Amino acid sequence: MTSHSASQRYLSTRGGSYDLSFEDVVLKGLASDGGLFIPEEVPSLPEGWQSKWRDFSFQELAFEIFSLYISRDEIPEADLKDIIQRSYSTFRAENITPIITLDEEKKLHLLELFHGPTFAFKDVALQFVGNLFEYFLIRRNKGKKVASREHLTVIGATSGDTGSAAIYGLRGKKDVSVFIMHPKGKVSPIQEAQMTTVLDANVHNLAVDGTFDDCQDIVKALFADAETNKTLKLAAVNSINWARILAQITYYVHSYFSLVRQTGISDLKPRFVVPTGNFGDILAGYFATQMGLPADKLVVATNENDILHRFWRSGYYEKKAVHGREAEGGIEEDGAKAHVSGVKETLAPAMDILVSSNFERLLWYLAFQTSKIEETNHRRMEAGEKVKNWLEELKKEGGFCVSSEILDAAKEIFVSERVSDKQTLETIKDIYCCDLPSHEQSKNTAATTGTQHDGHYILDPHSAIGVAASLRSVQAAPGVHHISLATAHPAKFANAVELSLKDQPGFSFETVLPEQFTGLEKKEKRVTDCKADWKAVGELVTKQVEQEIKAQH
Ligand SMILES: *Cc1c(COP(=O)(O)O)cnc(C)c1O
Repeated sequence: MTSHSASQRYLSTRGGSYDLSFEDVVLKGLASDGGLFIPEEVPSLPEGWQSKWRDFSFQELAFEIFSLYISRDEIPEADLKDIIQRSYSTFRAENITPIITLDEEKKLHLLELFHGPTFAFKDVALQFVGNLFEYFLIRRNKGKKVASREHLTVIGATSGDTGSAAIYGLRGKKDVSVFIMHPKGKVSPIQEAQMTTVLDANVHNLAVDGTFDDCQDIVKALFADAETNKTLKLAAVNSINWARILAQITYYVHSYFSLVRQTGISDLKPRFVVPTGNFGDILAGYFATQMGLPADKLVVATNENDILHRFWRSGYYEKKAVHGREAEGGIEEDGAKAHVSGVKETLAPAMDILVSSNFERLLWYLAFQTSKIEETNHRRMEAGEKVKNWLEELKKEGGFCVSSEILDAAKEIFVSERVSDKQTLETIKDIYCCDLPSHEQSKNTAATTGTQHDGHYILDPHSAIGVAASLRSVQAAPGVHHISLATAHPAKFANAVELSLKDQPGFSFETVLPEQFTGLEKKEKRVTDCKADWKAVGELVTKQVEQEIKAQH
């Protein structure tokens, strides 16, 4: 296999740092000017990719795509292949992210991203990130004595999905400790059990007496504290980490080829529909299209926390809906509270956000593309300056507005849809009630995925938001193939699924419960209770890391 390998460098979206290596940006997570790391240049798919890559496996595609973003002298070919192999050996589906057809007439397909260890799409990225961290640390610590080894401490806050995916990505990894804070009693029982039953010595669960916001504030305070940063080398695995975006590009290309093979259409131009929260998943789709993957549009599907949907309607990016009648109409559509000041709790909690952290990355590229400046470096500086100003306005004023030129550029690639809780429940029911195309029934048996029961497909609430948006998009663009991303297994969100399907004859929640979840709540757990006080958490973390390192002597 011949591969192209660029000499790829990275810069910050706020202009404060540039010329960084892939290793730097993965281990740092966030730039020191508060910006996010992006590649200096988006590489193009190599000539002839459509025929050369057509029959590649998921792992082979991952290797080709990652090689365009990671210089070969940073990770040699054999090592990268090995990391990829190990990262996806934990998946239950043979082709990692299978695609199934929900409705042949409407050309609606579902891309199942939840066949990893924690049954959510975040595994696709975090299995890779865990192995990357370990790889870099082993290399840095080669030949060093225990006392002088570099040790990373990953700290994160979770309302459910990110925490378990991070824990499963990092469990048992050498020289990395992982601390995940969750609001005590406020995550679903399955998600709590998924996290706390992992007993590896380097995994630490903290049940915080407070809310998810308290947990996030503690993480921010610890990262901002020079003292803590000196004693513990802190690292982040939330969706701002560039490696997570990179890993997610693969399934856009992979599903494209799956559909090309399935339909026999060689000049396919599908729409990708993505249930969106922090804008990480769909940003990977943006990179895929900028590299040259044909796509009609990318559809941003939000829940009632709809800052992105309001942006695409008005050009205003603001925490509260105050501008424009359109946005207001959207908010009030089905009785949801208008002018909400905080995050609204919905049936799709992994998408409950006030602002989308990765949106900053898209803004940089839009500013860069619409710039009038010729010289590349000046152009980059101007884009960084613009992004910095916008983000400052967001912080100070609660929002900002972009020029019509930038909004037009954003509309060229993206459209948006907002889906309410009520519509989410209706979609789960509608899809359950319509029969799947018969050839799909045998392929994806309930025994292996748990998402089908007697020929009925069961969506989780996040995936249902994607499907609801897809069905609207199908009307706007009839005849276009739609690939709707399914981001979680329904068993993870029992509450919404029960609510929607409880009256369906023959439905019982047991039918969707994967064997990995049965008895999980009775297994041995390890979790430390703590107060919502960042100093106390800092001391606790320092003590547990010391003990963990001592135990390795
Ligand atoms: C994290 C998550 C999302 C949102 O993904 P973003 O990258 O934050 O946009 C959607 N669905 C599920 C199930 C998730 O866990």
